[in-house]
Amino acid sequence: MSATPALPAFLNGQPKLLFIDGKTVAAQSGKLFDSINPATGERLAQVAEGGSVDVDLAAAAARRAFESGPWSRFKPFDRQQVMLKLADLVEKHYDELALIDTLDMGGPLSRTMLGRRRAIGLLRYYAGLATSVQGDTIPNSAPGDIFSYTLKEAVGVVGAINPWNGPIGLAIWKLCPVLATGCTLVLKPAEQAPLSPLRLAELALEAGVPPGVFNVVTGFGEAGAALAAHPGVDKIAFTGSTEVGQKIVRAAAGNLKRMSMELGGKSANIVFTDADLDAAVPGAAMAVFQNSGQICSAGTRLYVQRPVYDEFVEKVAAFAKTLRVGDPLDPETQLGPVVSAEQLERVTGYLALGHAQGAKALAGGERLTQGALAKGFFVAPTVFAGVNDDMRIAREEIFGPVLSALPFDDADDAVRRANDNPYGLGAGVWSKNVSTVHRVARGLRSGTVWANCYQVMDPAIPFGGYKMSGFGRESGVEHVQEYLQTKAVILKLD
Ligand code: NAD
Repeated sequence: MSATPALPAFLNGQPKLLFIDGKTVAAQSGKLFDSINPATGERLAQVAEGGSVDVDLAAAAARRAFESGPWSRFKPFDRQQVMLKLADLVEKHYDELALIDTLDMGGPLSRTMLGRRRAIGLLRYYAGLATSVQGDTIPNSAPGDIFSYTLKEAVGVVGAINPWNGPIGLAIWKLCPVLATGCTLVLKPAEQAPLSPLRLAELALEAGVPPGVFNVVTGFGEAGAALAAHPGVDKIAFTGSTEVGQKIVRAAAGNLKRMSMELGGKSANIVFTDADLDAAVPGAAMAVFQNSGQICSAGTRLYVQRPVYDEFVEKVAAFAKTLRVGDPLDPETQLGPVVSAEQLERVTGYLALGHAQGAKALAGGERLTQGALAKGFFVAPTVFAGVNDDMRIAREEIFGPVLSALPFDDADDAVRRANDNPYGLGAGVWSKNVSTVHRVARGLRSGTVWANCYQVMDPAIPFGGYKMSGFGRESGVEHVQEYLQTKAVILKLD
């Protein structure tokens, strides 16, 4: 085992405050809450508990920056330059950001460090888009000599609300379209992992993002609810559970905010007999187990064609048993804890339900409490067989390292059952037959279909949900459009 990395200077024991208008400020209430290291159950930092008054201040700062601050006069080129500078700073400080996330949410260093390419890739990709926003000239058939064209204008003040499962990557993903289009942002990170977004705000200021453009209000659901309902916020970009997403849609109705919703999932991963099974075994296992199952598009319903079902599922279980679960700071560790005591209770509750309903755990099936693991929130990667489509473990999002394996007969059977779920975020198909792959991909009601791979993401490829997994797309050219309004200009020529 290598030496434990030194604590980042950012975690200096001082309370971490809100970031509003380019300055760190205490919550108006003066309240603080604890951010807990889920590997040890101990306090990592105290963090300001923002409330609705703080959201008011942040939204006002964001409004000033949008309407009259220096940012409002930035040309696309200027926005591109600060984004590229921020990408350089994120690259320079990435080890620190990854370490903060590992300590704050338990993702092992072996995983959080891998986020470097994505973090800087996002910033540089959207920096490119900053100079490519354009309207159209539109030939028209109106009587007289009429010239018509469209202007693309920034939506305004954006409120973003994030979950905990990839704090720095998710914060950058929310910030990118804001900076590319000239909007401004109030970000409410998850209470379980609020630290790296605060550090990102410091780096953004250093990169030349003017005060008020990127504000961070840490706190609980109440702060998120205040942002969702705020009359001075023009758009909400939410990533989180479907249940909270529904509350936000209702809260945002007051001023008819624009909205994008990246919500939960219960994604089906379908393995055909003719797949490259040696690749599909680790592929199917890691579609669920990476980040300890805390990924919205995790392939938690594993459908395997009947002739190879028993052998394949045994191999996935054997693979699960080889995964090294433990101290996230150990570079050899593959799976860390789940994020919180509450999440541990939720996941172990589903394990108990699976056992009670007659599913058979071929691997895992329990909390891990050996030695030092007892202090943290560790769950063994679990493969349940003997599952049927109606069991709650096969229908509901668990958000832990729990896979339900089910046999299927043919492509129609697999697609029908995969679609028979309220969610529609991700899906996988494994087959060497290109016709099978295309037919299944076309039939699946989900925002992403991975074929012979899983969870591959790229800044240029749109990501988002069908059905109860939400609406709107993040990444790609479409994403930027969601931060723009279209104004038609109609001019009668003399
Ligand atoms: P959550 O919905 O409980 O919380 C998400 C955020 O919403 C947090 O910041 C929380 O404080 C805030 N919040 C809570 N109540 C609120 C309210 N009434 N109004 C406004 N904000 C409120 O989700 P979570 O438990 O942090 O994260 C797990 C969920 O996120 C899973 O369902 C997962 O699938 C989903 N997720 C989706 C994606 C995606 O891209 N589709 C990505 C990651 C996670």
